[in-house]
Amino acid sequence: MFLEPHFKGQRSGWIEVVCGSMFSGKTEELIRRLKRARIAGQTIEVFKPKIDTRYADEKVVSHDENFFLAAPIAQSAAILKVADTVNVVGIDEAQFFDLQLVDHVQELANRGKRVIIAGLDMDFRGIPFGPMPHLLAVAEYITKVHAICSHCGNLATHSYRLDDAQATVVLGEKDRYEARCRNCYGMGNILNLH
Ligand code: ZN
Repeated sequence: MFLEPHFKGQRSGWIEVVCGSMFSGKTEELIRRLKRARIAGQTIEVFKPKIDTRYADEKVVSHDENFFLAAPIAQSAAILKVADTVNVVGIDEAQFFDLQLVDHVQELANRGKRVIIAGLDMDFRGIPFGPMPHLLAVAEYITKVHAICSHCGNLATHSYRLDDAQATVVLGEKDRYEARCRNCYGMGNILNLH
């Protein structure tokens, strides 16, 4: 389990990334860290891409319905407007942001803020998703969380799309995606035929 580094007296901030497949608990982990920061008396601001409207518009909501208020923003540059008094910046669904997010979170960390980012590391094709591989490269702390493969019960790292739509961004829930391990992901839709 991730434990917060001791930040008293530290001048610069840092970047944490929580990544994994769908249903791996990324947002739950983001919310857990934000709650602990709030208990520690830290000032928090949370952002998410405007594209993610699966649930309430201004909330970061996990699958188990835990939530935090979040500002939906269309461009990653909007996070730079965060007030100087904010200690912790949370970002959910970071895979949907533009690549400039990488520079912007570094600027926030340089300004002394703790930045906690959650996002899908791979899209449904198994390809690194949007700015995520770059964020992983520049982060001080990385946590990869795993779902459970819905076919064999091993740790799942892949998001398998059940329909055949080809767009990279298809928002959906359990009716459209499954978490799968590497082996079951490679078996494709054979697993859904019986
Ligand atoms: Zn499996």
